[in-house]
Amino acid sequence: MKPLPVVVDNASSARFECVFPTCGGICCKNGRPPVEPAEERRIRANLGKFLPHLRPAARRRVEREGFMTRRVKEGLHTLAVSEGWCVFEHGGCVLHKVGLEEGEAFKYKPWRCAVFPYERLDDDRWYVRQWGEHGEVWDLFCLDAKASPKKAVDTSRGELALLRELTPEGKEGWRFKTPRGWKPARPGDDRRS
Ligand code: SF4
Repeated sequence: MKPLPVVVDNASSARFECVFPTCGGICCKNGRPPVEPAEERRIRANLGKFLPHLRPAARRRVEREGFMTRRVKEGLHTLAVSEGWCVFEHGGCVLHKVGLEEGEAFKYKPWRCAVFPYERLDDDRWYVRQWGEHGEVWDLFCLDAKASPKKAVDTSRGELALLRELTPEGKEGWRFKTPRGWKPARPGDDRRS
């Protein structure tokens, strides 16, 4: 099925430019993104690929207690944090890095991380997170429209392409299918497949 056009509410005004690695990947600090069950299952099934790339403390945390927490955001459990950073952060996102090595950067990355700085307004509309818009509370420097003269829709085409497929019928629709026999996250239980 042809992907639906994506409506970005502030497409003409929003400015954004990712300057990673200059910023140190600060958007992954205490990020705690909620993870869809199918995303969690995919990460778990491939965990062995990620473990060697994690920070030592993060790896210990994941091996002892798993990569999920009991915290709930948007009705979903969230990724764990170690030393103040997402357990999958190590000079950038390990899930992104391994996916990229396999030819698909967003393959293992939770969609909420992958589409940053886009946020859903409603079923059909998205917006670019910007200081002073839609009650933005994060003081992250790159969300300041004055931080870059570049239009977000020009600098984040990969993220926009993902948004277009983020429908139940789209290529990224697998994320919203609850795996058979799914049980809510239990930290420390990495035996679930
Ligand atoms: S999963 Fe990756 S992008 Fe998301 S918060 Fe963790 S390190 Fe950052």
